[in-house]
Amino acid sequence: MSTTSNPYEAMLQEFAGAARLLDLDPGIWKILTAPKRQITVSCPVLMDNGQIEVFTGYRVQHSITLGPAKGGIRFHPDVSLEEVKALAAWMTWKCAVAGVPFGGGKGGIICDPTKMSPRELEALTRRYTAEISDVIGPDKDVPAPDVNTNEQVMAWFMDTYSMRVGRTETAVVTGKPIAIGGSLGRREATGRGVMIVVREAARHLGFDASGATVAVQGFGNVGSISALLLSRLGSKVVAVTDWQGGVYNPTGLSIVDLLSWTQNHKSVVGFPEAEPLPGDKIFELDVDVLIPAALENQITAANAPTIKARVIAEGANGPTTPEAHQHLFDRGVFVIPDILANAGGVTTSYFEWVQNRHGYYWDETDVNNRLERWMVEAFNRVLATSLNYKTDLRTAAYIVAITRVAEATRLRGMYA
Ligand code: NAD
Repeated sequence: MSTTSNPYEAMLQEFAGAARLLDLDPGIWKILTAPKRQITVSCPVLMDNGQIEVFTGYRVQHSITLGPAKGGIRFHPDVSLEEVKALAAWMTWKCAVAGVPFGGGKGGIICDPTKMSPRELEALTRRYTAEISDVIGPDKDVPAPDVNTNEQVMAWFMDTYSMRVGRTETAVVTGKPIAIGGSLGRREATGRGVMIVVREAARHLGFDASGATVAVQGFGNVGSISALLLSRLGSKVVAVTDWQGGVYNPTGLSIVDLLSWTQNHKSVVGFPEAEPLPGDKIFELDVDVLIPAALENQITAANAPTIKARVIAEGANGPTTPEAHQHLFDRGVFVIPDILANAGGVTTSYFEWVQNRHGYYWDETDVNNRLERWMVEAFNRVLATSLNYKTDLRTAAYIVAITRVAEATRLRGMYA
């Protein structure tokens, strides 16, 4: 196992582990690891200070074999084409693991949204949408939120696309506000999925999630909702970090209070009902469950040996390097891989797209019940595959995904 922090290389290593076990045809191997389409765009924006800035954006469609490409858009200073390629490929595998009839895509813009005004963010979003509008659409490629993008960004995205095609096209993007075609339950869906797989993993390992201690890295959409729903289940969330630092309370944090604190203070740091915790200490705590829900490459060969958790649920995409993953597996840590653990978001995005196309909207209980069923089925499918192949859950999830996409690729055959 080589060391890599390049996320696309990491994805290729994960893929290869499963492809070898499947004895995958070398030609299909080549097709499944080559991104179908990669686009780089320049987005000029008139900034509030009167100067013009040009931002670089990407959209990668890794696969459209099972359906339209699907995946979020990230606004972050560290966005790179290699990162977007990896995230797009993970979306292909995630959709296939979950049984969602979509391919995989991802987008990103190199920018620092913390230093931009709402007007500048709107202008950037609209220009990026216009630049990629020829290759997206409800049947082609359906974006969604990711790090630093939210419902408002999706609303601007949907409006810009709709103005260009001359009609309101809600199904071009998911994660929209409810008032313009969003699905009830979508905002909480990724965290809800994380809660469901943690609960199922605990059941499988013979302990009860309702008595478990939990630490969460990242307190954005995924981390905060995972923490909230696990605390509602009865778990004790003892530590949470974000990019500015962390907080720790061995008797359990009130996630409701922490959420209202962060709304006013933009960070968990300073929360009065807890002790301060340096961000990197989150990986040293004596907890049952660890949820990395921030960014890639957080669990590395350097900090993996300090981890004491029995279960790691990857809320983030690619939080564990291949080397760290091997170390954790050798130690018997039950790692629920990203392409399973955070699949609740894309599953409910699919539900949103279905509702948009039907023009008929489900109530929240209906959405949540369907998500519960899909996540439990996906978890059981991956667990059974791991037992069958005597392998870790990540390789098992890839086996499920590759089997599906490879079969579709074979059946469709070669064009020209
Ligand atoms: P977000 O922007 O809402 O939140 C990100 C959080 O991570 C913030 O609290 C931020 O402060 C924190 N963070 C950033 N760098 C950190 C660091 N070095 N240490 C600790 N915390 C740090 O983003 P999100 O939508 O919650 O996405 C988080 C992860 O989950 C990403 O990997 C994303 O790709 C993945 N994901 C998101 C969804 C979704 O529906 N939003 C679905 C599947 C996967």
